[in-house]
Amino acid sequence: MTFNDLGLATELLRAVSDQGYSQPTPIQSQAIPVVLKGEDLLAGAQTGTGKTAGFTLPLLQRLSTPQPFHGRCPVRALVLEPTRELAAQVGESVRIYGKYLPLRSAVIFGGVSIRPQINILCKGVDVLVATPGRLLDHVGQKTLDLSQVEILVLDEADRMLDMGFIHDIRKILALLPKQRQSLLFSATFSREIKQLADGLLNTPKLIEVVRHNTAAESVSQFVHLVDKGKKRALLSHLIRSQNWHQVLVFTRTKHGANRLSGQLVKDGISSTAIHGNKSQGARTKALADFKKGAVQVLVATDIAARGLDIDQLPQVVNFELPNISEDYVHRIGRTGRAGREGEAVSLVSNDEQKLLKDIEQLLKRKLPKTTVAGYEPDSGKMATSVPGQSSYPEAKKPRNNHNHGNRTGQRNRRHGNKKSMVK
Ligand code: AMP
Repeated sequence: MTFNDLGLATELLRAVSDQGYSQPTPIQSQAIPVVLKGEDLLAGAQTGTGKTAGFTLPLLQRLSTPQPFHGRCPVRALVLEPTRELAAQVGESVRIYGKYLPLRSAVIFGGVSIRPQINILCKGVDVLVATPGRLLDHVGQKTLDLSQVEILVLDEADRMLDMGFIHDIRKILALLPKQRQSLLFSATFSREIKQLADGLLNTPKLIEVVRHNTAAESVSQFVHLVDKGKKRALLSHLIRSQNWHQVLVFTRTKHGANRLSGQLVKDGISSTAIHGNKSQGARTKALADFKKGAVQVLVATDIAARGLDIDQLPQVVNFELPNISEDYVHRIGRTGRAGREGEAVSLVSNDEQKLLKDIEQLLKRKLPKTTVAGYEPDSGKMATSVPGQSSYPEAKKPRNNHNHGNRTGQRNRRHGNKKSMVK
């Protein structure tokens, strides 16, 4: 199947081809025709599947018949996102895919001045991408009219609920016209999501592209068993010896992210932290520096990293395992995106064995466990380390972003993994 077979307008096909996409991803080939028909959609898809284009392209096409604006500051399509970073990214996709269409789009989120947003909104916006809190601020100030919304997209619905946005969402829903098209995207389907979908969607079409809670197939996953106190030294060692050029590292806490980032810098590795206590400006700068390769390591908490779209990110490290197993799947979803290969390494200390078990239960498989020579855990309880050997026998050649790693290195590692697998 090609994009031409999906019934998209030439302006959109041109924008897609400018992006270099040759084939629609599974979510795109399934969702685009449904949305184009004007039907409601309940989609199970994680970030990294191409879902943004899956809803943005048909949404833009449906809006492409210009409508005269009525009333004060009306909006025709509303896309709700849980985080500022996601809102910014999706807003950018709307701009890119819609560049040959005469449609206006805007992005609004908190943490930045509201004034410029009011100026943009009052000119009338076809597509508005927003986080719930700031959207409601605008509603309160009457700088936004949601009574003419034709299409609603609730993106990352599971994360919206995790972040406690349910009341805001319900308030927003009450402001929308009953007659509209609604699309709901979620990586997982809890009872709460189903309840929300029931109230929101009208005989929706169901699409599920990645099975519930399965990790992206293209991500190789490894566990390194190590004592807590040696994690930072091991991480520095891996970054250097494996020539990791672009690494997203997850910590559990904001404080931990700051501390680790500072320690890496002391080890001579360029690093920056991204988390909710940083100003929007600092977060945007950290992400931009990381994306353009000016910073080698980005240390992030789960919420800050949610949905970050970093093209061809080769390496994710879990410095600590997440408390919530589903977050592991979200974390490793930052790599191996849209069919590309990626690698996720977890540094696991003895006190995290229970979390590891929970994750393996969710994944329905055991993760390969290894130790690295010189960093074996003292306890001896956890690992069957092979003396003098490690899963990373020698430094690999530098990776480049298009070919994730030296294949021989990967084979060696897998071989090594077998030897030290813990059952
Ligand atoms: P998303 O799941 O929407 O966050 O998209 C994940 C990544 O896939 C983004 O970097 C997109 O630019 C990329 N992408 C989206 N659609 C395609 C496609 N059809 N072919 C190749 N890459 C794509």
